[in-house]
Amino acid sequence: MQPFEYIRATDVRHALTAAAAGPAAAFLAGGTTQVDLMKDGVLAPGVLIDITRLPLRGVAAEGGLLRVGALTTMEELAADPVVIQRLAMVRESLLLAASPQLRNMATIGGNLLQRTRCRYYRDPSCACNKRTPGAGCDALNGHHRMHAILGTSEHCIATHASDLAVALTALDAIVHVRGPDGERAVPLTGFYRMPGDTPGVENALGPGELITSVEVPLLPEGTRSGYLKVRDRASYEFALASAAVAVRVTDGVVRDARVALGGLATVPWRSRAAEDVLRGAAAGAQAYAAAADAALAGARPRSGNAFKVELGKQTIVRALSLVAGVPA
Ligand code: SF4
Repeated sequence: MQPFEYIRATDVRHALTAAAAGPAAAFLAGGTTQVDLMKDGVLAPGVLIDITRLPLRGVAAEGGLLRVGALTTMEELAADPVVIQRLAMVRESLLLAASPQLRNMATIGGNLLQRTRCRYYRDPSCACNKRTPGAGCDALNGHHRMHAILGTSEHCIATHASDLAVALTALDAIVHVRGPDGERAVPLTGFYRMPGDTPGVENALGPGELITSVEVPLLPEGTRSGYLKVRDRASYEFALASAAVAVRVTDGVVRDARVALGGLATVPWRSRAAEDVLRGAAAGAQAYAAAADAALAGARPRSGNAFKVELGKQTIVRALSLVAGVPA
């Protein structure tokens, strides 16, 4: 690991001032990804700003919103009574995301900013446009079974790793950030950047900006939600395909629907096309299959991950069947 300066921030202003001192600064929260990547030589910040003592921890319900401090742990959010009662998809995405040890360390802000699990990104001996712009991408013609089929480019096909971000994307969550130019709010649906020809630019954060909280609208009464994650083994594994769905059904008709996908795309993937198919349709197998077809219509698989097209569709159908309580 390269030598770095360590600063323990005493308040948010201190953290932002320290971050503004140089481009090589990085924030340290739970450290469950950051430290691994520093040890592997993937990340090498010159200054590491410890923000764990900042007052950015806690969950509070305000009207129809849940405000989640960025330093709230995954476990704390999963155990929140409002999350349990009103946001099943959030709780399930958290509990399926990591081991209890990790959930007790990892923060919500850090979870949203976690880096891809692409093996080539994490191996400095491999070519990776995300780690080194212009270097090439060893995944394109390499082992890409886990990689994305939606939102890809010829420069990067890495999936986004967060389960929580998929659920929060379905819920239209808002990310609050503070930086050198003050505070701003960014809808999560516009927070992440598809790789295009700049895979290293992953989100809307500017230099020195810090996530301070996430605002999550509660689902309307009568809406059921859930998160289904399909993976190679039952625990401690990343998604091959996942679906966060929320559905309100009355008199056998889907009145409202939300669908977001993980494990299939370069960013947490909201499928408005699937939602449009579902709204107003009779709840059941035919509508769910049509929604799945719509969601995967733009898929661009490669030889090693073509199976994800059908897997993604089946994941959506299964998630909708489970959540809507109507046989598929
Ligand atoms: Fe790097 Fe993206 Fe290619 Fe993986 S898929 S090696 S992260 S450029």
